[in-house]
Amino acid sequence: MVGTPAGMKLDPFLQRADIAYFSMEIALHPEMRTYSGGLGVLAGDTARSCADLELPVVFVTLASRSGYLRQEIDAAGRQVDHPDPWDIKEWTEPLSAMIAVPIEGREVWIRPRLHVFTSPLGHSVPVLLLDTDLEQNEAQDRKITDRLYGGDAEYRLKQEIVLGIGGVRVLEALGFHISTYHMNEGHAALLAVQLLRQFRRRSEDVTLGESAYDPARVRHRCVFTTHTPVEAAQDRFSYDLVARLLGDYVDIAGLKKLAGTDALNMTQLALNLSGYINGVARRHTETTHRLFPGYHVRAITNGVHPQTWTHAAFARLYQAEFPQWPYEPEALSAADQLADDVVWSAHQEAKQDLLALIKARSGVDMRSETPLIGFARRMTGYKRPDLLFTDIERLTSLAGNHPFQLVFAGKAHPRDEPGKWLIEQLNQHRRQLSAVIPMAFLPNYDIAMAATLVAGADIWLNTPLPPLEASGTSGMKAALNGVLNLSVLDGWWVEACIEGVTGWAIGGEKVDPGNDHAGMLYRKLGETILPLYYRDRKRWIWMMKQGISKNGAHFSSQRMMRRYAAEAYLR
Ligand SMILES: *Cc1c(COP(=O)(O)O)cnc(C)c1O
Repeated sequence: MVGTPAGMKLDPFLQRADIAYFSMEIALHPEMRTYSGGLGVLAGDTARSCADLELPVVFVTLASRSGYLRQEIDAAGRQVDHPDPWDIKEWTEPLSAMIAVPIEGREVWIRPRLHVFTSPLGHSVPVLLLDTDLEQNEAQDRKITDRLYGGDAEYRLKQEIVLGIGGVRVLEALGFHISTYHMNEGHAALLAVQLLRQFRRRSEDVTLGESAYDPARVRHRCVFTTHTPVEAAQDRFSYDLVARLLGDYVDIAGLKKLAGTDALNMTQLALNLSGYINGVARRHTETTHRLFPGYHVRAITNGVHPQTWTHAAFARLYQAEFPQWPYEPEALSAADQLADDVVWSAHQEAKQDLLALIKARSGVDMRSETPLIGFARRMTGYKRPDLLFTDIERLTSLAGNHPFQLVFAGKAHPRDEPGKWLIEQLNQHRRQLSAVIPMAFLPNYDIAMAATLVAGADIWLNTPLPPLEASGTSGMKAALNGVLNLSVLDGWWVEACIEGVTGWAIGGEKVDPGNDHAGMLYRKLGETILPLYYRDRKRWIWMMKQGISKNGAHFSSQRMMRRYAAEAYLR
């Protein structure tokens, strides 16, 4: 390895980086299609803040050469799925270390590729992308790291073997000395199984005896961040499948004690083998306690990377007034003192960029004087992108009193048929309402589009069915840009909403599936929000500044990573 250019690039990190962050997906650059949505964006913002704060972290993920999904919308308004390959050679370099893991009795070779990620403040973290597309492997195994969240349970388990078991061994082969392993969601939980195995192997070498089997030694090293608020969303594999793929590499009887007797539940496995466990918002941590009683689960509420998600017009403003804001976003708490006209003109600049994007991607002309409501997230049932269209008559009568415009974006997972149906429905509404409500659906939502959307809308709408939104982060991005959140009280918004100050709530805090959220949404828009936009611009701008100074300042990945560093890594 020494002597190869990529190997040399790794050298400065080998001694220093003793924390490994494992994530199935990570969103670093729009051109690197190694992510699908919020989980990957969180991992990316984690990497950005680790670099900014010079934290000694190495990132481990999959190569995902064919990406996740390129979304096309056909003439009938339906999602058409395509692979989304990216230029891995342009963005990463192969390292010369290789290891093999046993899958279905075959040796599957894994080679890490290196991407050195440099944040806007000029510091770097290494990102290792595990790749099985090697000539040493059989054709089917070369595909294991090809498509993010592609294929069936078997394909997924193979990917998780490569990530968890392969990842630990790759770090070792490269010469890292890792003291803390951080699992971003349960996908990486097999890393803890690999650690158990290694401790056992070493203890046999020096005949330490039974005590070395103790999972406490693994727990001491592992940190687990859970993101799933419901049983059904958890990653599970049948033990028949586990036995078929891993053979006697794992002790199934032992695994059942840690990961559930019926099926291998990756969340449960991670919970049992981690010494520090956290949910991604306070509300989500309460939900996790109910789902998995008996574990000590803390709450570290997610955050977003300020420089990445702030529009250039606002970044200029912040730079002039609070030069330390990129490193210490808490400085934005004084943003309530900014002058109204500079805040409004920065917002108009961001809105203009979004109107240009809408025109370019959908052909729809929108007006800068008319309020623009944005909604962009994974298109799936519980996010209820159709809530706004529950009562079309009420919606059009609202628009008759106070005109507004709508922009939507978001992909449905290729196997999520109800999610795909929602996209089709949205596009039908768009066509039917086009004379009354200007509306656009922008295809192929990604981080570049997200940056323009969260800055250029006037109102950022979120309508999940509680308690299913673990955190949500796009509303935090909106807050950095003075865009006002209108959201159901779930995830992060429970902590962030001050009614009529930082934004507005749809419904109360109680989780009640019988809530008439659609009715509440119409009332809030028609009686409060739209009249305010048209009649009291001064109060509107005051709220924008409250959103920045209270939420933009607080919900940053700098704060989040300082907490992980102090509380989870320095145990
Ligand atoms: C921020 C972001 C997300 C996450 O948004 P949520 O509010 O959690 O739904 C998903 N996808 C992209 C591309 C993003 O930028």
